[in-house]
Amino acid sequence: MTIASLRESEAGGLVGAQKLTDGIHLVVDALKLNEIDAIYGVVGIPITDLARLAQASGIRFIGFRHESAAGHAAAAAGFLTKKPGICLTVSAPGFLNGLVALANATVNCFPMVQISGSSERHLVDLQRGDYEEMDQLAAARQFAKAAYRVQRAEDIGRGVARAIRTAVSGRPGGVYLDIPAAVLGEVIDADLGAASLWRVVDPAPRQVPEPAALDRAIELLATAQRPLVVLGKGAAYAQADDQIRQFVELTGVPYLPMSMAKGLLPDDHAQSVASARSLALRRADVVMLVGARLNWLLGHGDAPQWNSDAKFIQVDIASTELDSNQPIAAPLVGDVGSVMQALIDRTGPGQIAVPAQWRDELSARSAENVGKMAKRLTAAETAHPMKFLGALQAIRDVLRENPRTYVVNEGANALDLARNTIGMQVPRHRLDSGTWGVMGIGMGYAIAAAVETGDPVVAIEGDSAFGFSGMEIETICRYGLPVVTVVLNNSGVYRGDDASTSGDPAPTALRARHDLMIAAFGGRGYRATTPVEVAAALREALAAGKPALIDCVIDPADGTESGNISHLNPKGITVQR
Ligand code: ADP
Repeated sequence: MTIASLRESEAGGLVGAQKLTDGIHLVVDALKLNEIDAIYGVVGIPITDLARLAQASGIRFIGFRHESAAGHAAAAAGFLTKKPGICLTVSAPGFLNGLVALANATVNCFPMVQISGSSERHLVDLQRGDYEEMDQLAAARQFAKAAYRVQRAEDIGRGVARAIRTAVSGRPGGVYLDIPAAVLGEVIDADLGAASLWRVVDPAPRQVPEPAALDRAIELLATAQRPLVVLGKGAAYAQADDQIRQFVELTGVPYLPMSMAKGLLPDDHAQSVASARSLALRRADVVMLVGARLNWLLGHGDAPQWNSDAKFIQVDIASTELDSNQPIAAPLVGDVGSVMQALIDRTGPGQIAVPAQWRDELSARSAENVGKMAKRLTAAETAHPMKFLGALQAIRDVLRENPRTYVVNEGANALDLARNTIGMQVPRHRLDSGTWGVMGIGMGYAIAAAVETGDPVVAIEGDSAFGFSGMEIETICRYGLPVVTVVLNNSGVYRGDDASTSGDPAPTALRARHDLMIAAFGGRGYRATTPVEVAAALREALAAGKPALIDCVIDPADGTESGNISHLNPKGITVQR
């Protein structure tokens, strides 16, 4: 189908007296019916006209340079809006590029749907060597929450509805929807086509917890000597900000935000124990996990990082998550909003009271750690060449003046240090490497935050991390998005001072003037060598509200191998650096 015939068929084609439609129109109509207003993708055979038609119908199509970044954008859109983000990919290689993001979305519990064109079934299934031949459905199954294929145009509405329902209900995740080229081009009667579409009613219904489970949890918290609440990105996703805040403040229980839950309550909240994290984990005797998994990021709940006698309460929409690492004494299966509201309603006045000794112990440790950090920050303020912490303090100060700015963050040291330095004041304004600690999400997440909200975005990137999706700054410039990318450039993966053992650069070495890159696409590039320059550039770029990139020249000797998680490297025999 050509663009000319697309226009002609906006109201459907007409053959004799019969009004016709086709697979491409039905996909767009089904998405519109379900209030999808943006698609992130890369065009090519067989989906180019689908993108054109989507755009012509009022859906925003954001065209990327690489499908992984488009997929990450769809995932972030899902996290921010609670509606599935849509990623559109071409067959085989494009599909596989997008699959990384689909898998990452599933691991992070973000709702997204990857719709991919695919090659002809009768050729693929006999392995006759079709253009971009691949059994995409079979490949997607193992990486997604679910994978479906539509075989007839009349099933497109069903396929889209099923994908949307599956992506957002229960534990959110990534869904793959395979639509072969032949189905996209299949022509059917327009009335039959229209009648085959439907709008998903109440896609993610509330899930209310068991009253007995609520009483068990309240009893545990009421008898605890050292209670702790851990808020995870599931709590942020749930958009139950008022209930969470009310419960935390009503009970006075200290809380620890996981990185993407920062801002659910402002980071400077009196009950936050982020700066006494290790003590809180090691000493807490009753721990209530709210939309947070006891995975590697929380040391699996194991001693010695945790108190071996700790009792766990877990609030999660996925019952299969419970007992995955530690016995869960009070399983609260339900959506965070319903569970927190029920807890508020059932907790008697003064029933949960936190012993003063526990609060004092945590405050003392917080004060001690804040003091230690202040010394590091002061030392970094004037250090030359600039240190990570020098640049990050400057960024922190400017972001304090702009608290509604979205922060995207990835890297090793750039991630660990920014997470601890930059406080968040507003829920769901921090998007980062997440459960896998993955690199390459940066530009995709930043683009989605800007597209979905229209608000400014600052992406704080390690120089290595930025490289994975760096070409997308062209996308940012093309769409004129208010994204300021700040590259903490220490000229290497982890550090830039590794000596080479051959005539080639060291395996960890990188060299780039990223500020020159963005200039090629019409954006504004800055190069900053001091914290003062970083702050001035960021202030100016945010005020302009246009695409910009600040390349921060960081001391190549600053940075730790693998950041905070170097212990995950194999021990073996140390390689000489
Ligand atoms: P973090 O990395 O921040 O600790 P995780 O991604 O490990 O957070 O955990 C998120 C958890 O939140 C998942 O187990 C997921 O099932 C759960 N979850 C997601 N959405 C909801 C919701 N609306 N209500 C309850 N739990 C949810």
